Amino acid sequence: MEYRIGQGYDVHQIREGLPMWLGGVQIPSTSGFVAHSDGDVAIHALCDALLGALALGDIGHLFPDTSDEWKGIDSKILLTKVMEKVRSLGWQVGNADITIALQAPKLAPHIAAMREALAGILGVGVDRVSVKATTTEHLGFVGRGEGCEVWAVVLICRSL
Ligand code: MG
Repeated sequence: MEYRIGQGYDVHQIREGLPMWLGGVQIPSTSGFVAHSDGDVAIHALCDALLGALALGDIGHLFPDTSDEWKGIDSKILLTKVMEKVRSLGWQVGNADITIALQAPKLAPHIAAMREALAGILGVGVDRVSVKATTTEHLGFVGRGEGCEVWAVVLICRSL
């Protein structure tokens, strides 16, 4: 087998009155993420990790925020398109590990749903998709509730 590893990072600003999408799941909240798409910052980091493993640039390069085509788009569609690229080159996902830094609301009740949603699109079992959430103990822009920060790491593999 041949292996590649990729990492992705993304940040979105939080604003009152927007829907909050994270890891393919809508989180009950009075605020959400400012974005050209639906603002699913976890999926964006995951897309960048996959693209990084393949050295294919980043999500902004693939889906420009200047294009109306991607305005308000469900980020699950973006991840599906990235996975089409991954598969077309003969790769499959080994595992993914995602860390979400968000002060509020608490994400623990939604982790299982996120893992399931992401595993479905990645085409792997839920046991290969880790989603972890942390606050930053009220420190920095995350701690002040101004934004959400996500890191993602993926391993992809293909037969030689
Ligand atoms: Mg983004």
